[in-house]
Amino acid sequence: MPITPLMPVYPRCDVRPVRGEGAYLISEEGRRFLDFASGIAVNLLGHGHPVLTKAIQDQAATLIHVSNLYGSPQGEALAKRLVDATFADTVFFTNSGAEAVECAIKTARRYHFATGKPERTTLIAFQNAFHGRTIGTISATDQEKLRSGFEPLLPGFRYAPFDDLAAAEALIDDTTAGFLVEPVQGEGGIRPASPEFLRGLRRLADERGLLLVLDEVQCGMARTGMLYAHEQYGIVPDVMASAKGIGGGFPLGACLATEKAASGMVIGTHGSTYGGNPLAMAAGGAVLDVVLAPGFLDGVRATGDRLRQAIEQMIPNHDQLFESVRGMGLMLGLKMKSDSRRFVAHARDHHGLLTVAAGDNVVRVLPPLTIGQAHIDEFVSKLSEAARSYVPPSDD
Ligand code: PLP
Repeated sequence: MPITPLMPVYPRCDVRPVRGEGAYLISEEGRRFLDFASGIAVNLLGHGHPVLTKAIQDQAATLIHVSNLYGSPQGEALAKRLVDATFADTVFFTNSGAEAVECAIKTARRYHFATGKPERTTLIAFQNAFHGRTIGTISATDQEKLRSGFEPLLPGFRYAPFDDLAAAEALIDDTTAGFLVEPVQGEGGIRPASPEFLRGLRRLADERGLLLVLDEVQCGMARTGMLYAHEQYGIVPDVMASAKGIGGGFPLGACLATEKAASGMVIGTHGSTYGGNPLAMAAGGAVLDVVLAPGFLDGVRATGDRLRQAIEQMIPNHDQLFESVRGMGLMLGLKMKSDSRRFVAHARDHHGLLTVAAGDNVVRVLPPLTIGQAHIDEFVSKLSEAARSYVPPSDD
């Protein structure tokens, strides 16, 4: 078989979406799917949200792109809004999550370089983490399936078990720059860090002069019911990567940092042709308009509680399949007793329900943040039907 024009790196399923309407995707053949995957935590306003659509349309007709050689009123405005809403003092805009993490890694290394400790280059990262697919970000995970065949990878990463503070502390030495961690592991199976762990990393960073770098690409931007997930823990990072939901579907990422942590990021140290172009800034501004409107985040938390309770109530009816539900806000994971990939495919193909499989046999439930009770009811009914009609693989 000759290679396909589209490089065949994804195990694509047969669903071929061509249109989106709110929480629904419509395929080429006109089949309608309830979209509780949201482009893997991206379409946080659902599909075709009027505020986002209009902002992109208006900006596209005005000015799509200019180089970062010029002043950026659009970038300054969005950066100011993010700075005002978060721990950060400064923002670098990227086009993806991996680039935001790359910028975070560079910022952390450069901080120690600029403050006279250039030997501090190593980030302590965590097992089963996912930070992206660039050489730098696959170096930051211990997952063999992401790394295999791409060696030599970058030095400067060590891996501790997730949520194990003592193990992370034991890895600190003279070369440590800081910690790189997802407050809620996404691809790893919707695993929220314990408060003791995240607060412990913050404390260790403070005591040892290290930086706490958070990867909030998946769990950030309102998904957990706070603007960023670390707010749930009562801590602040020094550097943070954000992406996915921040553009509502438009490719946009951001690396946010405190003034101190960004002290090495001076003129000439970083850049991106497209990063922060006017079209991307319009998309990011529209998402913030919705997400920061009074009551929106309260609504995400309330809807998340209702969805979680509805799933919890359903689990005992299918306890041969489902174990428990975990997560925060509208970033939920349904832990299964058998292969979640196979079940996700079954729910999609036979019941028109889109979810995403993750590590640890988890079904990721990542609806648009704009869903209402009717969507929750429809989701639970489709999930129950899928569970009833599902035949798990036999052991032999
Ligand atoms: N970090 C986390 C936590 C992610 O979940 C992802 C993507 O799934 C990334 C980084 C990489 O983002 P992108 O695919 O936009 O490069």
